[in-house]
Amino acid sequence: MAGRSLAYLTQVPVDRVKGIGPRIMKKLNGAGIHSVTDLLLHVPRRYLDRSEMFDLSAVPLDEEVTVGGTVLKVDVRRLPRNRKMTTASISDGTNVIRCTWFNPYVKVFEGSEVLMSGKVERFRGALQMKNPDIERLDDDDAMLTGRVVPVHPSAGGYSPANMRRAISNALDRSRPIAEVLPQAMLSRVGLMGRDDAMAAIHFPEEEKDGWRARHRLVFDELFRLEISLAMQKHRQIQEATGIRHDPSGEMVGAFVDALPYELTGAQARSIDEIQADMASPHPMHRLLQGEVGSGKTVVAVAGLLTGVQSGFQGAVMAPTEVLAEQHYLGIRDLLRDATLSPNPADPVGMAGTGSLFAEEQVADRGVKMALLTSNNAEVNFLPAGSASRSDVIDWIGTGEIDLVVGTHALIQEGLSFARLGIAVVDEQHRFGVYQRVQLREKAEDYDPDLLIMTATPIPRTMAMTLYGDLDVSVLDEMPPGRIPVRTVHKTRHESALAEVYDLVRSEVATGRQAFVVCPLVDESDSLEVASATEEYERLQGVFPELELGLIHGQMRPADKDRVMQRFRTGEVDVLVATTVIEVGIDIPNATLMIIEDADRFGLSQLHQLRGRVGRGAHASTCVLIAEPTTPQGEERIAAMVETTDGFRLAEEDLRIRGQGTVFGEKQAGAKDLKLADILRDVKLLIKAREEAFTMVAADPNLDEHPLIRDEVIALLGEDVEWLFRS
Ligand code: ADP
Ligand code: MG
Repeated sequence: MAGRSLAYLTQVPVDRVKGIGPRIMKKLNGAGIHSVTDLLLHVPRRYLDRSEMFDLSAVPLDEEVTVGGTVLKVDVRRLPRNRKMTTASISDGTNVIRCTWFNPYVKVFEGSEVLMSGKVERFRGALQMKNPDIERLDDDDAMLTGRVVPVHPSAGGYSPANMRRAISNALDRSRPIAEVLPQAMLSRVGLMGRDDAMAAIHFPEEEKDGWRARHRLVFDELFRLEISLAMQKHRQIQEATGIRHDPSGEMVGAFVDALPYELTGAQARSIDEIQADMASPHPMHRLLQGEVGSGKTVVAVAGLLTGVQSGFQGAVMAPTEVLAEQHYLGIRDLLRDATLSPNPADPVGMAGTGSLFAEEQVADRGVKMALLTSNNAEVNFLPAGSASRSDVIDWIGTGEIDLVVGTHALIQEGLSFARLGIAVVDEQHRFGVYQRVQLREKAEDYDPDLLIMTATPIPRTMAMTLYGDLDVSVLDEMPPGRIPVRTVHKTRHESALAEVYDLVRSEVATGRQAFVVCPLVDESDSLEVASATEEYERLQGVFPELELGLIHGQMRPADKDRVMQRFRTGEVDVLVATTVIEVGIDIPNATLMIIEDADRFGLSQLHQLRGRVGRGAHASTCVLIAEPTTPQGEERIAAMVETTDGFRLAEEDLRIRGQGTVFGEKQAGAKDLKLADILRDVKLLIKAREEAFTMVAADPNLDEHPLIRDEVIALLGEDVEWLFRS
């Protein structure tokens, strides 16, 4: 059976469907429905099964039920402030129920047939429902003869009943819908045919047929995404020219030997994986994933040194200035401890100038390192303050500098590397995919190796979609001796706050330090700064005997530096901060994290903030000050108190927020998932990924599967087109 393909139907505008004129088309377009394919993929969000409906005379109270009947009488009353109350009496012949809606969009007509879902209550002997979901059934022709009523999401103000009719017309015109997957794959995965699935998801005979059809279409959606990821990976890795680094040099060994601790098994394994990638002729594309505090930095440095000892440059890009500076200082000190730093007496500007020094091996002369942010520049072979930004940019270009740590400044126009060999991107979720491509493109004739680090625990399912083109190393083992952070929830009540302040005093008395993170202020940096400043002043009154510091995003970098430095050296006891300290900050002596209005933060942010403590040998506490006003806020606080497992929190976050917001705007592909739910559909995701990667490995350009190729291009659009250009 051939039939029309979804790819073809993406070319057919939705107004070609009977009953959809220009006015309705505009509404649908506004809701993202442009083509017949879009309409066909607008699937029911649930089904009402008429055989499971209750008679009003026997309906149970206070639980979710579906009831139906004829509307006897409607009353619409206008309320102040543009509100509207609609009341209707509905009879099914066994009894009458009174329904009330405050939703201004509800339209009920006397004499029409309706289905309603919600909770039935009894009030003064009469049945009633408040704001039930309502479905009009009248005017719905043949398609509603079955027992099951599909409830399509309304779109652009087009009601579920109208949607249902439009989709029925669209199906009539388009069927049969062409199959694109090989029969063998359908049997392997246990999927129904596409034509049957397209019909049954919209108008199933029985509810379970609808869910089986969804199973097939969810697979299709995930398969398209995984095909695009498999092709992306194939292109990036197989077809690009990489560098064969030599992992056998001596610098990495010297560095590891000089560490004041043993590597964890996970760190050693990750370093091996990275070095194996770097030694191969294909460019590395690896994600290094590990909980806050799992020790990603030393793994990254081992990778960087592998590049540097092979004669290339390394770069680290961090999302914030504070973090870039911390990485610079941390890596600089690690190199110094391993006696890999340059001799400060060495003259500058000799590399590449034909001088004697140019020939000197990096292992002998030491690693020349630089910091470069939009405001700041420093090098490890000259006294602080004596290298300007333009010096550093020049020296990156001439190859004088082996290793640079920076922010977005590293991908600015006009900065070029002499021979970038390995790029590390920290806290990738702050950067878009585009920026990682841009950094890689700073090398011209080849693709440097790329290591992406993230502390955001990504559920495996998300890693398979969001980072599906990357190989993954996981630091699933914490350095020994860490004591899990105890988390407590406190209200803003005076006596509760007094306990929190006592805790601050007692921690400081034993030589420890504390963070106080101030409330998020929506949409406004300056309000956030103002509230942090105010809180800082207020806390000075609370703790006259302590040394307080303040840090926020609008401070000059030098001032931020100074405060961080004073906190790092223990001069400041309590650091009052905005979320600028969210990621990466590593102060092992800090043992108390107080987060004000914690319910206003997202779970991953809370987890990151909590990760700022519990990094040393001392027991740490995280105090969440919150009086949640929403159920979600309450759930987040409860989750934080209950677990320190970042992966569980990430899944919880996904569940509370929904995947759309978790993926954010930046990542193409995953946000386009309409049917699939990557938590619920994880088994299908794994199968789709296996099938897609196997197919692309055997047929990298999908020459033998032109229908699949057409469909991926037609449905995923511009995001994937480049994959198919030769
Ligand atoms: P991450 O970036 O993964 O959050 P860091 O790289 O900042 O973590 O490391 C956190 C802390 O753990 C640092 O103080 C670091 O010195 C320390 N550390 C790293 N690896 C080990 C190890 N194997 N044993 C003990 N401490 C370690
Ligand atoms: Mg880090």
